[in-house]
Amino acid sequence: MLRYVLGNWKMNMSVAEIADFEANFVAENTPNVSIGIAVPAIYWGNCAGLRGKALLGLQNVSEFDNGAYTGEISAQMAKDVGAEFCIVGHSERRKYFGETDERVNQKIAQLQSVGVRPVLCVGETLAQYEAGETKAVLASQLTDGLRGVNVDEVIVAYEPVWAIGTGKSASIEIIEDICGYIAEFLTTLSSKKVPVLYGGSVNNTNADDIAKLDTVSGVLVGGASMDVAKFLAIKKAFS
Ligand code: PEP
Repeated sequence: MLRYVLGNWKMNMSVAEIADFEANFVAENTPNVSIGIAVPAIYWGNCAGLRGKALLGLQNVSEFDNGAYTGEISAQMAKDVGAEFCIVGHSERRKYFGETDERVNQKIAQLQSVGVRPVLCVGETLAQYEAGETKAVLASQLTDGLRGVNVDEVIVAYEPVWAIGTGKSASIEIIEDICGYIAEFLTTLSSKKVPVLYGGSVNNTNADDIAKLDTVSGVLVGGASMDVAKFLAIKKAFS
């Protein structure tokens, strides 16, 4: 099965840093791994040189159709500029921008209506993890986030909130167990094997161990995706 190494630059990078990244980004032909980057929308044009070497995607999209929604970017616009995927429901958007499962679901529907592949992020907070609620939280996020959409064409990323940007990745046992749980859960919603990625402090040192897990179809990488050498090393681990 094709595996994915997707980066998320979040609200980082500059024109000069993107030029530097691109100059050092060596695209190797690895038919079993797809590498991609969710870039800040305003830098879409500055990332043109990466096209063809990596999938290019966005980090968020509006749940509305085109119209009077100042500051928003529609799925139609994402498609128009050639976005190949789009992250939806990242925990930072859930936390800082009030994204609910219902809005996440509408965003997925918008993306699918124009043919941009959604990457749905799910994950529990530290409090939920400590209360033993992880699987219940995930079941609810998946059920509500994926209601009525084409689950066959979605990528799911398990991102425990307590592991994102903290330098504290989930243990290999947790990653295996929870990604396996999600994959199993998704069999009730899809006839296809839906890719399940892990995200949360993935770097060039822990990628090898994560890549050995059968239940994991790839990774979503934040901080380490901005360092071209680390990002390519993570891709190599999955190749
Ligand atoms: C993310 O933002 O999706 C992420 C996983 O970040 P980091 O790799 O920095 O923890």
